[in-house]
Amino acid sequence: MGSEIRQIHIFFFPFMAHGHMIPTVDMAKRFGTRGVKTSIITTPANASLFSNTIQRSNDLGIEMDLKLIKFPCVEVGLPEGCENIDAVTKIGTGMDVFINFLKATAMLQEPLEQLLRECKPDCLVADMFFPWATDAAAKFGIPRLVFHGTGFFSLCTMACMTIYEPHKQVSSDSEPFVVPGLPGDIKLTRKQLSDMMKSNEETAFTKIIKASKESELKSYGVVVNSFYELESAYADYYRNVLGRKAWHIGPLSLCNRNLEDKASRGKQASIDDNECLKWLSYKKPDSVVYICFGSVANFNSDQLMELAMGLEASGQDFIWVVRKDKKGEEANEDWLPEGFEKRMEGKGLIIRGWAPQVLILEHEAVGGFVTHCGWNSTLEGVTAGVPLVAWPVSAEQFYNEKLVTQVLKIGVSVGVQQWARLVGDFVKRDAIEKAVKEIMVGDRAGAMRSRAKELGKMARRAIEKEGSSYFDLNGLIDELRLSRNSSK
Ligand code: UDP
Repeated sequence: MGSEIRQIHIFFFPFMAHGHMIPTVDMAKRFGTRGVKTSIITTPANASLFSNTIQRSNDLGIEMDLKLIKFPCVEVGLPEGCENIDAVTKIGTGMDVFINFLKATAMLQEPLEQLLRECKPDCLVADMFFPWATDAAAKFGIPRLVFHGTGFFSLCTMACMTIYEPHKQVSSDSEPFVVPGLPGDIKLTRKQLSDMMKSNEETAFTKIIKASKESELKSYGVVVNSFYELESAYADYYRNVLGRKAWHIGPLSLCNRNLEDKASRGKQASIDDNECLKWLSYKKPDSVVYICFGSVANFNSDQLMELAMGLEASGQDFIWVVRKDKKGEEANEDWLPEGFEKRMEGKGLIIRGWAPQVLILEHEAVGGFVTHCGWNSTLEGVTAGVPLVAWPVSAEQFYNEKLVTQVLKIGVSVGVQQWARLVGDFVKRDAIEKAVKEIMVGDRAGAMRSRAKELGKMARRAIEKEGSSYFDLNGLIDELRLSRNSSK
């Protein structure tokens, strides 16, 4: 009888980057609201990112806790407390620091196994950056699910690129090629691919990605932060053609229903939420453009200056998030044109540091989003029903750009040509002005906005009772319950 009624217990182990930790805590909450007991595994310096959400969830009767394991900074030559990608990018932009960070994460297998031994959860949802997690879970007979943090479209694009290698058939970096097999006649250039995809060299990073692909095939399946209606052709392709077992359970950000949950995702916001809402409350519906490039991309002063001038020239009201604060070395404001803030008073709001993104996007005054196309931001923009300016920087963001501009047709490209880690390819002010106007004013903007609003409604329906994501999550929980009962 015990095993019939015992609650399912799932471990969630996110990669230590905000773009992975934020959706993971949302995911744990989403499982928690369905009666699943959840534990999030992280390291001490990342604990504060989860603790408030966990406390608020506990107050609502959701069973959720945090399990901490030590991060071996010193062992790999990283400074004490350098336990996430945000901290890594603050100490250096070189690949070597990132590789050291990855080396440290690989040392987490043993403490993870210790926790699995002690707590005997029924399932482990672990990030794609932890390929060894499948074997770790298998030692204890526990199914491992993979979380990539991105959507079906880019998962399929990556798989097709790896299988067919079309970039090896073109004669120059700027010659477009079609991604073979992928529905939609999607064209890319070599310039838009990551260094890893382009190079034949084996590095510590390529080894992890290769191991990650292999471990995914051995795992129980993949959980995807997306909803079926958004990218059905690619969800089908992923399952039926590529043969992956996958559950779509998003948009995960929609589990944040009250103001506090929306305002404090990830980090403490650098602006008071009421101040932000008050500023927006004076604006007409769909009149403000929101500009933010996620938690990793870090533009140099010249690019920020160009962006400021492009924004001013567009004539639109805006909220612009800049990853700098007014302390220490970052206090230098050489990235702002002379008198910019004075001229923009009442018209533009600059948030230095961290913004309450979901709260802002969901405000009716916000009518457009200039984004780096990180998957969370893309999906949050879709969910909020706003057209997007796609300004990809790195990772799989150029793939997401194609989904937004060519498949969903809810945005325009700012015209970035070159994949570039962290700092981005330079974009001129005229291109910025043009793209911002294209999503904010005119008939084309109106048509994109209607499509975006329709998708936003579908996103909300997907997580409601009988919606596609609700249905898939139920199916997954039932399956895990059955597999637990049959193995005990
Ligand atoms: N985010 C936020 N405030 C900020 C910057 C980012 O709340 O000032 C959140 C954003 O809502 C998203 C996540 O951080 O959930 C960033 O993830 P994404 O995949 O968009 O980009 P990444 O940071 O991984 O490049």
